[in-house]
Formats: sequence, C-alpha cells, structure tokens
Amino acid sequence: MTTSLLPRFWIYTCIGSLLIPNLIIAVPRIDVVYPRPREGDNRTVIAKVDSNFIFGSVQPSHARLTINNTPVPVYLNGAFLAFLPVPDSSQTYHLHLETDQESADTSVSFLFPEQVPADTQSFPQFNCPTTIRFLPGNNVTRLSVEGAYDLFPIEGTTALALSQQQNFLQIKLTPFRSTWVETRFVEELHGAANPNNRMVHKIVCQSESGFTRVTIPGVKRAMYRLEDFLDPNEVRLTLFGVTSHLDLIKLNHDDPVLNRIVWQQPEDEVLYIHIYLKQRSWGYSAQWNNDALEITLNHPPDLDHDLEAITVAIDPGHGGDQFGAIGPTRLSEKELNLWVAQELYNQLLRAGARPVAVRWQDETLDLYERIDRARQTDADLLISIHHNAFADGVNPFSQTCGTGTYYYRPHSVDLARHIHTQLLKATGLPDDGLYYDNLALVRPTYFPAVLVEIGYLMIPEQEERFRSPSFRKRCAKALVNGIKSFLKARKKESS
Ligand SMILES: [Zn+2]
Repeated sequence: MTTSLLPRFWIYTCIGSLLIPNLIIAVPRIDVVYPRPREGDNRTVIAKVDSNFIFGSVQPSHARLTINNTPVPVYLNGAFLAFLPVPDSSQTYHLHLETDQESADTSVSFLFPEQVPADTQSFPQFNCPTTIRFLPGNNVTRLSVEGAYDLFPIEGTTALALSQQQNFLQIKLTPFRSTWVETRFVEELHGAANPNNRMVHKIVCQSESGFTRVTIPGVKRAMYRLEDFLDPNEVRLTLFGVTSHLDLIKLNHDDPVLNRIVWQQPEDEVLYIHIYLKQRSWGYSAQWNNDALEITLNHPPDLDHDLEAITVAIDPGHGGDQFGAIGPTRLSEKELNLWVAQELYNQLLRAGARPVAVRWQDETLDLYERIDRARQTDADLLISIHHNAFADGVNPFSQTCGTGTYYYRPHSVDLARHIHTQLLKATGLPDDGLYYDNLALVRPTYFPAVLVEIGYLMIPEQEERFRSPSFRKRCAKALVNGIKSFLKARKKESS
C-alpha cells in the first residue's frame, strides 16, 4: 500500500511489524502577519486609530476563526483579512481558531507611537538673517513649515535665510515671497553677503550630442524654479532676486528640441525664462557653472525603431531591510516586485530594448540611490514597480483596491496614461486611478518616470493572483505595451 492511497487524515504508524491506523488531527495553526513588529525594531507599533486591519493565515482553512469574538471569514488558501475596532484598553487582538476536534489561540499586542515633545528636539541654530548654501543631495523647500514641496535647489545654490522656526528656515525669494527649508539641507555661510546685483544680460544655447545646453550667466547661484509645461511645450526657469538686462539670446537654427526663448519680468526680482520646445520635453536638469546656471534639455531617443535603442531603467521597489507590503500568506513585496522586474527585463530584451535594473539583489537602497543608478545608465525612461498596501486605519473593504499608476512631472503623464491603460486590461483589477503624486521615484526631471502599484498585496485574492507566474507575465507584457504605445505617440507627435 502506498501512502497516496491512504484515506485523508489517516496515517499508519509502524510499531515493529504492525501497521496501526491513527487519526491525523490537523493541528490548528494561526499565523498573524499584520500587525507585525517594525523593521529594525521588535516592537509592534500601529498608528493611533479607532479600527485597523489584521491579516494572516490559518490552517486548516475550514477552521472557524474569531478575532476579539468577531467571526472572520477564512479563504480556501487559509488567508484571512479583517478590519476591526482597536481595543483602546488592552491594545490587543485575541484570535481563536477551532475545528470540530481542536482549537488554537494567539494574541497580538501592539503599541501606539510615542509622541516626542517638540521642546526635547534640538536643531542647529542659524544666526538669521544670514546667507545659506544648499548642500549636495536632493534638496527641497516647502511652501510653509511642513507644507507642500516648492523648489528643488541643486547643490551650491545660495539664499538669504530670514528667520528660523525649529528645524525650518524661511528663505527670501522676493520682498513678498518666501519658501521654507529644513536646516539639514543647507549650511550657513558665516559672514558672506548674499549678492544683490544679480543681472542677466544674455542667454546662449548650444546643441551637443544628445542634449541642448542653455547657459544663463550672471545668475550668481540665486534661488530658482525649474519646471515643465505642456501645450505649449515649455521648460520654464523662474529666477528669484534677478533682474533682466537681456538683449541677446543666441539660438541654433537647427536645434532638435529648442524652438525659442522668451523672457518676462512680471514683478521686481522675478524673471521668467520661457524655453519653448518643438515637442514635449524628454527630460531636463540644472547645474551651476560658476555664476552661470546651465539648463540641459535632453534630446529624445531615436524613435524610428520601436523599442530598439531605448534604455528602460526598471526599479524593483524596496529590497534588503525594506520589505514593503506583505500578503496574508507572507508573500513579500520586495520579492514580488523583483519577480515582475525580471519578467519585464526579459520581455524588453526580447523586444530589442536595452533594459537595466536598478537592483537584482535583495539589497537596501535609498530612494535617491535608485534614481542615481538609473541616471548613470543614461536611461530614457524609468519604471518603478510596486504592490500596494493601506496605511493603518484604512478600511480595505470600503476601498477600490486596484491598479494605480503615478507620475509627478507633466512630461511623464503620457507615459503614465499609456501604461495605466494597458496594465488595467492585464490585471483585470479595479481602476485605482492615474495619480499626480509627489513620490521620490517619479520626481526626477531627467527622464519620463512612472511608478506602478499593480494591486494590493494585503487582499487575499490578489496575493493569490500575484503568486501566479502567468499573471506576472501578463503584467510585464502590459508594461512593455504601455511603453511601446507611448513611444509611438511621441514619434507621431514629432513627425
Ligand atoms: Zn512599495
């Protein structure tokens, strides 16, 4: 007799030469995946919310599960997901699982985050008003303390700090406008005066292999805003504390991307440089060359051969210590993102593109390191792959829980739309939306950049689908098709 013929739940125990049938009791087992201890910490901390989700899996899947005495459905694969009140007194979820024969119990206790009193935090004190300089890195200013992102000044930009509120400095833009920066992004230039005679006399454009450079002397490291617009296609530079004495703009008659430059001084100390383009921007950046500000406008890649010669940077989100989301049966987002990325890489390679991955290993990477790695490969596009999760307190049963696509720069919206359309068809999941969102991976100006959230890993049915190689193949195919239709549209626009 082979064991495969044995009735379910029975095995034979061999004692000497005797075979004695015993009933196997499937021992009930509960695996709570979330709430879980924080990364790099062994405490389980959830946000201070009235209700929260709890998920994981149980065996056997036909067992009856209750959490804090509320019955919770169990899926065929044993997964469960519940959204339940958070008991304020005990801060504990008690789970009870029972079959007709046996039962199991477990409990999950959690903490609420500790409030750090503001007056115990210390910040470097600046001697305001004072001149400051932006440090190397990915600097950002905000419209107000903790407000929306405003400017992204590169290393070496200087400004006048007017006042300090805890770890934020108020930076002068004009006599009527200011912006706020965290002290960690800047250093104080003790005794250095902030130049007040910033004047622009000329602008020089020069076309090189792969890009056009627009040089603006006399800016003297002033604060600026650099952004792109559509319809008409434009990269606009706003200079603060700068006065126009412009009477010379040198253009190239056959520049591949630049159409014309128009300047405008709408108010004192605000100078607009409108760089009008012949087609939509394919990325741009700024750098200081002594007192001149240099704007680089990327030329589009060769669009005549479909995906050929197109370098696509793939960012499998998370990795190493950053687990990202997790599913009820412990499928981790960092691994899942990598699987989809591998599939996308292979399909792009077969389609003739030059795919490059930001990571292949299970390594911890800073968000900006990912962008730097993509940039080092001269990427034409960046696709960041993720699977979504909800923040504590959000009821997954009242949400869309579908496929979402994210962009930040106007020059990325077309790529995002093409990819989102294809991805929705491939996943068959609800439309979570096409989002403008201030995410680090879609914030770079160097190339069109898009982040996809293929679905929600905490939803048991979706986690089960993500485990399927054929589902992941379909998603990768959709990303390839999205890129292809984007390139086709761009080619049509430029011809
Ligand atoms: Zn993620």
